[in-house]
Amino acid sequence: MTAPFPKATIEGYPRIGANRELKRALESYWAGRIDADTFRSTTRALRIDNYNHLRDLGLTEDYAIPADVAYYDQVLETGLTVGLIPGGTDLDEEFALARGNAERVPLEMTKWFDTNYHYLVPEIAADQDITPAPERVLRLVAEAREAGHTVRPYLVGPVTLIALSKPAEWSLLDKLTDAYAAVFAALKEAGVEWVQVAEPALVADLSTPDAELAKFTEQAWSKLLGEENRPSVYLTTPYGATREGLTTLAKLAPEALHVDLSPWTLDEDSGYPERVRAQVAEHAPETTLVAGLIDGRNVWAANLRLKAEILQKLGAEHVSTSTSLQHVPHTLNAEKNLPVDVANWLSFADEKISEIQALVAGEENATEAFARSDRAVRTRAESERTHNADVEARVNALPAGAVQRQPEFAERNKVQEEQLGLPALPTTTIGSFPQTPEIRKARADHKAGELTDEQYTEALKTEIKNVIELQEEIGLDVLVHGEAERNDMVQYFAELLDGFVVTENGWVQSYGSRCTRPPIVVGDVSRPAPMTVEWAKYAQSLSEKPVKGMLTGPVTILAWSFKRDDVPLSLSADQIGVALADEVRDLEEAGIQVIQIDEPALRELLPLRADDRPAYLDWAVRAFRLVALEAKPETQIHTHLCYSEFGQIIDAVAGLDADVTSIEAARSKMELLEDIDETFHSEIGPGVWDIHSPRVPSQEEIVGLIKAALENVPSERLWVNPDCGLKTRGYAEVEPSLRNLVAARDEVAAGL
Ligand code: GLN
Ligand code: ZN
Repeated sequence: MTAPFPKATIEGYPRIGANRELKRALESYWAGRIDADTFRSTTRALRIDNYNHLRDLGLTEDYAIPADVAYYDQVLETGLTVGLIPGGTDLDEEFALARGNAERVPLEMTKWFDTNYHYLVPEIAADQDITPAPERVLRLVAEAREAGHTVRPYLVGPVTLIALSKPAEWSLLDKLTDAYAAVFAALKEAGVEWVQVAEPALVADLSTPDAELAKFTEQAWSKLLGEENRPSVYLTTPYGATREGLTTLAKLAPEALHVDLSPWTLDEDSGYPERVRAQVAEHAPETTLVAGLIDGRNVWAANLRLKAEILQKLGAEHVSTSTSLQHVPHTLNAEKNLPVDVANWLSFADEKISEIQALVAGEENATEAFARSDRAVRTRAESERTHNADVEARVNALPAGAVQRQPEFAERNKVQEEQLGLPALPTTTIGSFPQTPEIRKARADHKAGELTDEQYTEALKTEIKNVIELQEEIGLDVLVHGEAERNDMVQYFAELLDGFVVTENGWVQSYGSRCTRPPIVVGDVSRPAPMTVEWAKYAQSLSEKPVKGMLTGPVTILAWSFKRDDVPLSLSADQIGVALADEVRDLEEAGIQVIQIDEPALRELLPLRADDRPAYLDWAVRAFRLVALEAKPETQIHTHLCYSEFGQIIDAVAGLDADVTSIEAARSKMELLEDIDETFHSEIGPGVWDIHSPRVPSQEEIVGLIKAALENVPSERLWVNPDCGLKTRGYAEVEPSLRNLVAARDEVAAGL
């Protein structure tokens, strides 16, 4: 008889550590400051601390704590464990796959469902071997046990793993299923009673059609669940509603089944909980149904009364999060400076665990938690912080639907060509230059009150001057000021706009050791004063060449913030759009001729279901266009996108109607250019240097990429630039890389 499934659980917990211990351990190891043994023992201590902490928070039942552990990424971790990615248990091999090294390019990285987390894309082939390395999870189980914890191992499921791989090589499914079976058997033999397997592929419209996914799910899982020698399986479907896939899953009757019931998947009267209840009752009466009720992706305190009603409709007793909590910060306890009213409206990972317990206990046993929840819901709805009459009036007065900058591109393009007089294949960078230890120190000292405002400004100006001089010396054509004043491209604006709050310690993992601290949109957004103009003006005063003004676009500001759940996203986007339009006007008045509006996250907010995408793209494109709407024809508007495959949204990228579009392309070797057709009129800079890796690309390599780009883009429209900003790189790589980039351009331009 196996242990019963825990009543209160979570799908996953932030891995990075309350004080970003994992980040530090990773970076110390990569830098050679600690050896592999120290790295392993440090990260082991962190995992055990997390387990202890979760037990203290009340996850006391056996198997309530998921061991969703990964040094770098959960997809890579599972890939290595089941052997779809060769590498076994070798630490350096794992990091070479993730980050590349002098000889090798890293695996591609892309967005994990509709979150701001990025996973590594396994590269697979029909004829490859699959040799599982179950030691990876067995080790986790053993170390937890030694510390007194009965944890639940976590794997990404076989269907999702193939669906997310490149290419989605389904002929491997049988072999892969056998590998999972072998890992399951090893877990069983080690005495593990529950394993958690996530199949979020079933909630999204991926390249594999729904009907086929259902077939593959049935194929893999009927076999896996038919095995005798395995733990009980907790099959999960985070990140959305399973729709038709639900029947497939219910028919498989795993021992426990999770459904995501977050607001993303639930309209008030969707009937979804009732449908889930009926399907499970019909096909899998023995299956434990686990309600993913507490939202793993937002930071708002749950409306417990509403959640309790859904739980009742579902007829379930087991409560979890909708997704892993890896997407939210650890705890509100680390926030000392949030406005008190706002703090009452919020709930981070640890607070969400209390909400789960309140739901499991029920209102009669958790009266205080329910009363607190009622109060939060009420005060938030009534607050002036959430509703600003002036902002609402301005946005209401905007024309509805699409808006169009005048004159059209072709005409603007001519004016700009005369105005700017750039050489063939102009070179530029994406904005940021390395954030040196000196800048970080100056920022920290300023924050600590050890540098006055004047001293801090001086330090930044010195940095800007150095960056401009370096670019002049290297011979770039359109310069940047380097963004030294920005800790983060979204946070910077959030701090200067009204309607946001920022946290002190609200770090969430973006990928690997990279964390961001998403601001929180609490209410209506407006711009009390210019935000970037002084820096842009100063930088431009140092050069005859054009220096770009740098803005983060409305979609990206929203995508990398925690969003409101009380108004449509499109409303927040319009509000940010008009606030940034004021900034564009002020930059123009300050003499800035080129303005870049970064939208790296345009694809990030793309709904997982195809039906929902057109409406999103409409409002996203509109918000961007609002920013540039009143720009003068001679102002060259650039945009920049990265982090993803653009095929699906290429029309929307064209629809942004920017004058120049720079786009990540180096890792995928210019593949995206195949998607570009006549509707895409803007000039374009496909990245020729993958800045996510510490490699310095050679001149020859860059020449190759420029030539590849020229096969799809006429030379009059092609720019030469890196994939993204340089802030995470060091000057040791940046200088030679940029020199190679300019030399490569010169070489190709000479042959035009
Ligand atoms: N301008 C930003 C930078 O260079 C763009 C960053 C991004 O696309 N993620 O840092
Ligand atoms: Zn970028």
